[in-house]
Amino acid sequence: MLENIEDYARINKIPIMEKDGIEFLIKCIKDNKISTILEIGSAIGYSAIQMALVNSNVLVTTIERDTDRYNEAVKNIKYFKLNDQIEIINDDAFKVLIDQKYDLIFIDAAKGQYIKFFEKFKNNLNENGVIISDNLHFHGLVNSKEKIESRNVRGLVRKLRNYIDFLKNNEEFDTEFVDIGDGISISRKK
Ligand code: SAH
Ligand code: MG
Repeated sequence: MLENIEDYARINKIPIMEKDGIEFLIKCIKDNKISTILEIGSAIGYSAIQMALVNSNVLVTTIERDTDRYNEAVKNIKYFKLNDQIEIINDDAFKVLIDQKYDLIFIDAAKGQYIKFFEKFKNNLNENGVIISDNLHFHGLVNSKEKIESRNVRGLVRKLRNYIDFLKNNEEFDTEFVDIGDGISISRKK
């Protein structure tokens, strides 16, 4: 069934996490004994399901603004009988008020707004928690010196580069960058 979700994502061009990225995320959850997770950007629920499947103590809150994707995610979560472990919210993450704190915050939504997501949700992180961000390479474009034709893509790449600088120069958090999947960062409070 996970393969069915992967096929659905490929056919419908939904950017779910790459396999080795998921493996890394799963290992991180195990190594850090993470039990509560806030995910920004559920898409069709693939990464939320993978994280919840690590063990039955893992609780995921995930936010998706697109209603079609949200509906598909609800279906997938139900199929895996993970309703007790995954709470999914259909809204724009910037409009959602969350007061709970989490062991892991996984940022995987609009690539141009990572600094804003980080600033908003860092307050929801437990003292020893980690913030993980996905797609920092943006399919190799972030490190490429070639001129990017599309203005839109150029803007996103510039913003991701700004986000990387923001993490590197952050006074509150130390960040490790890993060349796995589409580029992942792990930030911890200093
Ligand atoms: N984490 C998923 C993939 C997420 S793709 C996985 O690996 O399986 C990114 C998703 O973020 C898209 O579905 C998009 O609709 C959603 N998104 C983008 N900006 C958002 C926002 N401000 N609030 C909520 N969801 C957002
Ligand atoms: Mg991603």
